[in-house]
Amino acid sequence: MAIVVGTAEAKPGKLTRGELRVGSMADGSPIRLPVFIASGRKDGPTVWLEGCIHGEEYGGAASIIDFMRGVDVATLSGTIIGVPVANPASFNFRSRVSSIDGQNLNRIFPGSREGSHSFQLAAVIGELLAKYADYVIDLHSGGIGAEVPFYVIYKDDGTKTADRSKELAKRVGVDTIWRVQEAAGMGGTVTAESLRHEAPSVTIECGGGTFTEQHLQDYLTSIRGFMQATGVLPGEAPVQGRYTIISGGSFIHNREGGLFVPLCEVGDILPKGAPIARMIDLFGETVEEINNPYDDSYIAAIRCRFYPTHAGEICAEAIPVESHERV
Ligand SMILES: [Zn+2]
Repeated sequence: MAIVVGTAEAKPGKLTRGELRVGSMADGSPIRLPVFIASGRKDGPTVWLEGCIHGEEYGGAASIIDFMRGVDVATLSGTIIGVPVANPASFNFRSRVSSIDGQNLNRIFPGSREGSHSFQLAAVIGELLAKYADYVIDLHSGGIGAEVPFYVIYKDDGTKTADRSKELAKRVGVDTIWRVQEAAGMGGTVTAESLRHEAPSVTIECGGGTFTEQHLQDYLTSIRGFMQATGVLPGEAPVQGRYTIISGGSFIHNREGGLFVPLCEVGDILPKGAPIARMIDLFGETVEEINNPYDDSYIAAIRCRFYPTHAGEICAEAIPVESHERV
């Protein structure tokens, strides 16, 4: 089947590019997703590589641009569809949600052609996944106001596709894997959508407001590992000696606004009740202490130091350690 995404068309042995138009703004300017397609001469699977479904998480976009421009198509078996920015209406405003309808695109799949802009966009992406994607890798970060450690997420709905997702999660160069169960908060994500189409998928988390060279290298390690593990790129994907599986837990929301003062670091494993952060008001007085509500938990995200924060924002994520595993 010829692969065509908007104006981008797969050509064996070539890296091509184009745009996928998904509507227009009030002034008529088109809303379009940039699309790279790298196609090998040898047969193989098609991987959908995507960033900026949350528009402010721009490290993913930078990494996809770097990876796609550098990929050696002569070594490819199959095809990589690289979409640096999947959600222009949130990207343009450096926002997690859409500037047009306020929706979080990564919570509303499968979307609807009859819905608001984000629902329409989700439907378009879902149709493309159904048509072309054998595998999906989705890049995220802490956004501008937060930071995350380098780790991987897969969605576990008990299917064979989810088992394969877990195998792939072990090959992206990280030793911490968040297993998200069906009803545990990843409803409506693009990775849930890919599972519905029986395409194994992982989400990479890395970095946040400041995009360092290390963050770029970590994203590239995960992308290359995923491509190797799926057979699209030659070579052996990385393997870790031991994996920490985390599961359950959730976002932590503060109750009082002010400046956010972290009392731990991303990637820490904290016991129940350990301090995560405190909120101070503009006189420096502590107005809230935020403690870990769960047993031994991995700090999977934390807001930036002294970042201005309103009540009820996502200020951290604490995910309990579930088990340790080998490959
Ligand atoms: Zn995200």
